[in-house]
Amino acid sequence: MGLLELAKAGKKSVLDWTDNQSIGVGVLVREYGKLSNLDKFYFSFPGELLMRMLKLIILPLIISSMITGVAALDSNISGKIGLRAVVYYLCTTVIAVILGIVLVVTIKPGVTQRASEIDRVGSTPEVSTVDAMLDLLRSPNKYKKYKTKREKVKATTSVDKNISIFPDEPTSTATTAKISENKTQEYKIVGMYSNGINALGLIVFCLVFGMVIGKMGEKGQVLLDFFNALNEATMRMVQIIMWYMPIGIVFLIAGKIIEVEDWEIFRKLGLYMATVISGLAIHSGVILPLIYLIIVRKNPFRFAMGMAQALLTALMISSSSATLPVTFRCAEEKNSIDKRITRFVLPVGATINMDGTALYEAVAAVFIAQLNNLQLDIGQIVTISVTATAASIGAAGVPQAGLVTMVIVLSAVGLPAEDVTLIIAVDWLLDRFRTMVNVLGDAFGTGVVEKLSKKELEQMDVTSEVNIVNPF
Ligand code: ASP
Repeated sequence: MGLLELAKAGKKSVLDWTDNQSIGVGVLVREYGKLSNLDKFYFSFPGELLMRMLKLIILPLIISSMITGVAALDSNISGKIGLRAVVYYLCTTVIAVILGIVLVVTIKPGVTQRASEIDRVGSTPEVSTVDAMLDLLRSPNKYKKYKTKREKVKATTSVDKNISIFPDEPTSTATTAKISENKTQEYKIVGMYSNGINALGLIVFCLVFGMVIGKMGEKGQVLLDFFNALNEATMRMVQIIMWYMPIGIVFLIAGKIIEVEDWEIFRKLGLYMATVISGLAIHSGVILPLIYLIIVRKNPFRFAMGMAQALLTALMISSSSATLPVTFRCAEEKNSIDKRITRFVLPVGATINMDGTALYEAVAAVFIAQLNNLQLDIGQIVTISVTATAASIGAAGVPQAGLVTMVIVLSAVGLPAEDVTLIIAVDWLLDRFRTMVNVLGDAFGTGVVEKLSKKELEQMDVTSEVNIVNPF
């Protein structure tokens, strides 16, 4: 299939072919094309464009959907729905953390790696060998080299300026343009404000604003109509982005593959990665479906299939916030979740609910402790669980935000914060899987909250539903 046909096939095709195509393109270019850094940058350009378009749409989408969603509900009911969503999200996050801890303590990926590395060199456990391996994994120089290279490419091309005709947020400010001296610091900024947007603050504002408009009756109608129209326009723009999505995704993944310089690191961190991935698989394939089945009494796998396009998008772009437009479409169209629920619950979920991130943070922190030969007592395990939960809530839905908030978890048990560099090389890959689980968790949340709020929704004035425009 040619690219044009692929693009025409649009949103549906994204499920079928992007993965293989992008890996293929990436490997081919890697093997046969001797690309300069500048070429690589141009090569990643179509993917970067997709990311920017998705990010750009988040702000009007959250504002319009939250305000219209909340305004359509009675403030009493929206309070109840909000509480249910928060409780559900918190419970599943805690379960994810416990699962992660159980797995990492049982599998002991850090301990096994130390031992096997020592065996391989055929000597008794010498501190120097272990330290050498830790140094190798830490490889800050390699990381620095990679970072400087990216920055050089950014600094020496005008492309970066030109791409800003597609800013990734309307309020794009100095925060995003900043290239920090210190990666951790840079991520902290991104993590807290999601590229300049204070998502949590925005949600609270929209919540209150929506409630106020809802209570204004006739007088508030003009505002409600405005936000409904804005919502419709935004969703139409989402449709255009989804048309472009297959192309963007191919280049996004291919661009990533040509960038990876050290594949060997994947073998070294294999057991750690396997622990994280199996935890994510159990959480998304067993625990979340079970909760859904018990509460909603419907087939959870059919529900998950309905979310397939959003899950694939999350896997490809590693950002649950940027996936939000697709999550909306899947939940409302494929799974027929009440719009009064999705518009309210999904933005909250994308901001505070990150089961995958929480699980990953718990596993990674214990793994780093094991590598450092630190015997964790029960108090420290509890500290890791609590801070991992908090860190996942604090992490923004942007790529690798979890890696940064992990500094909190490490510091809480006295591990060196710079040890995040031990796992940095494989984080871009794990990030994709945990983002997928984050999005699935948000989506199951809408199903569960809808079921729990059925009575209230049915009792509500039917006219409230008329207020929600279906843009499709
Ligand atoms: N990339 C994740 C998300 O967007 C956050 C993280 O774990 O880094 O949901």
